[in-house]
Amino acid sequence: MDIYGFLLSPITRIAGIGDKVALRLQKRGIATIGDLLLWMPKAWIHDHVQPIANLRAGEPARVVGTVREARIVGEGKRARAHFVVEDKTGAMELVFFHAGFMARDARWRPGMRVAVRGVPERKGLLWRMVHPEWVPAARFQEGIAPVYPSCAGFSGRRMGAWIAEALRRLPRAPSPWDEELGLPLWQALRAIHTDPESEEAWRRLLQEEWFAHLALMRAKRAAARTPAPALAPGRLCQRLVAALPWPLTPAQQQAWQDIATDLSSGTRMHRLVQGDVGAGKTVVAALAAAAALEHGYQAALMAPTEVLARQHHATLAEVFAPLGMEPLLLTGSVRGKARCALLTRLSAGEPVLVVGTHALVSEEVRFAKLGLAIVDEQHRFGVRQRWALADKGRGVHLLSMTATPIPRSLALALYGDLELTVMRGLPPGRKPVITRVLRDRRGLKPALARLFAAGGRAYWIAPRVEEDEESASVLARARQLAAHFPTAGVQALHGRMRPEEKQAVLAAFARGECQLLVATTVVEVGVNVPEARAIVIEEAERYGLAQLHQLRGRVGRSHEQGYCLLLPSPRASDAQLARLRLLEQCHDGLRLAEEDLKLRGAGDLIGTRQSGAAEFRLLDPTKHGAQMLEWTELAPKAPPSEALVRFWKPDFAAAD
Ligand code: ADP
Ligand code: MG
Repeated sequence: MDIYGFLLSPITRIAGIGDKVALRLQKRGIATIGDLLLWMPKAWIHDHVQPIANLRAGEPARVVGTVREARIVGEGKRARAHFVVEDKTGAMELVFFHAGFMARDARWRPGMRVAVRGVPERKGLLWRMVHPEWVPAARFQEGIAPVYPSCAGFSGRRMGAWIAEALRRLPRAPSPWDEELGLPLWQALRAIHTDPESEEAWRRLLQEEWFAHLALMRAKRAAARTPAPALAPGRLCQRLVAALPWPLTPAQQQAWQDIATDLSSGTRMHRLVQGDVGAGKTVVAALAAAAALEHGYQAALMAPTEVLARQHHATLAEVFAPLGMEPLLLTGSVRGKARCALLTRLSAGEPVLVVGTHALVSEEVRFAKLGLAIVDEQHRFGVRQRWALADKGRGVHLLSMTATPIPRSLALALYGDLELTVMRGLPPGRKPVITRVLRDRRGLKPALARLFAAGGRAYWIAPRVEEDEESASVLARARQLAAHFPTAGVQALHGRMRPEEKQAVLAAFARGECQLLVATTVVEVGVNVPEARAIVIEEAERYGLAQLHQLRGRVGRSHEQGYCLLLPSPRASDAQLARLRLLEQCHDGLRLAEEDLKLRGAGDLIGTRQSGAAEFRLLDPTKHGAQMLEWTELAPKAPPSEALVRFWKPDFAAAD
């Protein structure tokens, strides 16, 4: 059997995984045998058999022996099972609670050879283990064994048993890139589950995934090079520029030039505009939209969150107002009649600019004449969503925008389906944000108090403990700070809040009723509140320089001096502190990104996996970025099979 055929088959083919179990696993992204095989060990144990005579209380051990006595106490599900197991050196009692099923298990009878692992304790003269793990002795292999994380409520041990079964049945068949990658795929998959020192296997798998990605990007780029309406910018664009309160910066002019050339070409545009936070990308997007509108086409701008969508809508409304035009807004909270009316206008082909969230790509939205799709903060969307908006029409130009500064070479490899424009520098008149690493925090609260007394506003970034605890840590910090600054109207913003609630908090912050906003980094990249003068970042050493730079971009958006205060945790090492201090001097996002790449092997360049762009299965650009770049030249020339792509890039494959 073809190895990818096996990897792509449903997990229900594994013994012990029925429909119910499969459904639960599926919710955690494990639908195929291949998905299961990418569930990685979290640790390894040395699993060697110990004679019972050598056991020590409290030290986990593996014992292999023969069952001598079996005794069931009580009845039904809650029955308790006691077994006595003997090896050549002694005897040990095993106890299982809620063990009705063991009473019925025909294997658990005197004479059975069993391998158990557990924590021995002394019970009188006898050793005892309560609820040890066990397998029939014939199935036990001495040596180093993987330990798996639990998943969807299934123990790591059960996950391991299913994985072992999948490995037993894995066809030892060749796969197309075995030769280039120096190790057959099946061997590599086995190795990562059986050998803790399997760097070679890891490298091979990571390379295959990366090559699959590159091949796909190439294919996507070639396939998308199709005819599209020529939207040469004309009068409307000129009027829009003339109506702006300031001239375009050189970087904006350059980006607009690139885009205008693409739009006029008669072939689809696929351009990624990468520019520092505050570089002024929104106006560039507005110009592109104007070009579509003046040719009678529709334009759509998609942002990752409701808050951002609303903010863009407001900004664009201002930009277009002098031309007597008004953009529309479509998010999850636009409902009822308003939504119907809007959808009708879009499906009737009215040439409008619509701004929204991923609501724009939902089934019910039909564009009769979409000419331009704009995706803001594109790295926060998966590949599939990234293309979904442009796929709402035929020959739709695509403009992606990101503030994540990634070195050009890495950006080109990661987003190889797009052309790249880099916007360097900020609009004139901005003072660089004064940045300080504060190890001594005594001056911090008085300084904030002075800022609030003068009517200033600040962000406080609380550490993100765990995804689940995000809200807890933000809320706790907000309570503390509210007690300290009772008149500052302290409010909290976190991922668990409903869009309306977030909107209300941000509105209060924008109006100045709230002067201190406590949030985590996951919340709302790109929020624009020019009156925000300071940002305090706790446990700053956790973040990449580029990410810190983005956060700092929330302040200093006006002519007032902005401040960024980095609070390292007491655990921060000297090297981490030195890294943070780079931010005190350097204000160029791209240079910081390059430093990240050097210092942390790609640092947090792409944002972490929570960013929605988790388009890789094993690769993590924050860890493997530098290697990915190195490997790019090694990519096999032969195009991969369709099954290979479906295995590594299921999200992307599904988009076609
Ligand atoms: P980005 O999306 O690139 O982070 P924005 O488009 O939100 O940046 O712009 C940031 C700020 O800069 C906005 O307040 C905007 O009004 C202002 N701005 C944009 N272009 C210019 C310009 N050419 N001159 C002066 N200010 C500008
Ligand atoms: Mg922006």
